[in-house]
Amino acid sequence: SIVLGIESSCDETAAALVTDGRVILAQRIASQDEEHRPFGGVVPEIAARAHAERLAPLIEATLADAGMTLDQVDAIAATAGPGLIGGVMVGLVTAKALAMATDKPLIAVNHLEGHALSPRLADASLAYPYLLLLVSGGHCQILLVEDVGQFRRLGTTIDDALGEAFDKSAKVLGLGYPGGPALERLALQGDAKKVPLPRPLKGSAEPHFSFAGLKSAVLRAKQSGEYTDADIAASFQQAAIDCLIDRTRRALAKCGPVNALVVAGGVAANKAIRGALEALAASHSLPFIAPPLSLCTDNAAMIAWAGVERFERGQSDPLDVAARPRWPLDPEAEAVRGAGV
Ligand code: ATP
Ligand code: MG
Ligand code: FE
Repeated sequence: SIVLGIESSCDETAAALVTDGRVILAQRIASQDEEHRPFGGVVPEIAARAHAERLAPLIEATLADAGMTLDQVDAIAATAGPGLIGGVMVGLVTAKALAMATDKPLIAVNHLEGHALSPRLADASLAYPYLLLLVSGGHCQILLVEDVGQFRRLGTTIDDALGEAFDKSAKVLGLGYPGGPALERLALQGDAKKVPLPRPLKGSAEPHFSFAGLKSAVLRAKQSGEYTDADIAASFQQAAIDCLIDRTRRALAKCGPVNALVVAGGVAANKAIRGALEALAASHSLPFIAPPLSLCTDNAAMIAWAGVERFERGQSDPLDVAARPRWPLDPEAEAVRGAGV
């Protein structure tokens, strides 16, 4: 089967055509970095307008790249949340219109499920269940991925997401937007032992995360004037890695048998983080699987792939399915957290 995927939940407008044989027939991504850079972060209204202007021609171009028409597509999948609601609605409404016009099934994809299943698009050998570290701009979670739509959340952040911590620390260092990749580059020139920074929640029993204190410590280090920016960047990245490894090790001890340790989400593009997780997996005699960098940050191939997995199981959604600004992968765990955990 062939699924058209549409992504518009943040600041990437994207479309892709993916087959059940894991072939990405075509994919296009229009980034809005230029539009949002003057504001130092994503402006929801600007994002929604940009998605609305770009999406239709982008889908046409993606079909043309593959030499296909919509008739040859088996299903249309779009991100239905979580994310900035204006952008999500642009993508979802477009998918509904295409599904209605062509009489093809519509598949409403959870953006986080897109990230979570992307390693299976990249690697046919990855079977359920696997332990997933999902690290992105808005999320930092450890999930046991049991099947499509079946997630058990073992840990989450009690304040900031890791991508957010990278972006805010990068801003403090004057690295601009988006900051994660720039901070990683600067860290290569610094000494990770120079700046004493906290490792929040390290050693605690449940595999949760906290990055707000680390971010504030970066601000204080910068304001002290005692350290170079490169040393701060390297020390921040190392502190983040120490937390990730400690928390993931804890989760591995709790999750039962798994087939692999997997990382996904935009922060998974970070090579130092990938290296540290690979070593952790090796120490547990587990395969380590990380998608290629292009599948880590927001893209539509992962949405199309989640669509393929659902389509192959005979799943689709009604044309009145709603866009959701919030949509946890594990609603039970989310409810507990809402109660203060
Ligand atoms: P979510 O998926 O949680 O809704 P999002 O879609 O905005 O959030 P992604 O596109 O998955 O997030 O990831 C973007 C984040 O990844 C940004 O915070 C960015 O700084 C971070 N990031 C990207 N590359 C790197 C890198 N090399 N090192 C660290 N962080 C990175
Ligand atoms: Mg982006
Ligand atoms: Fe994302």
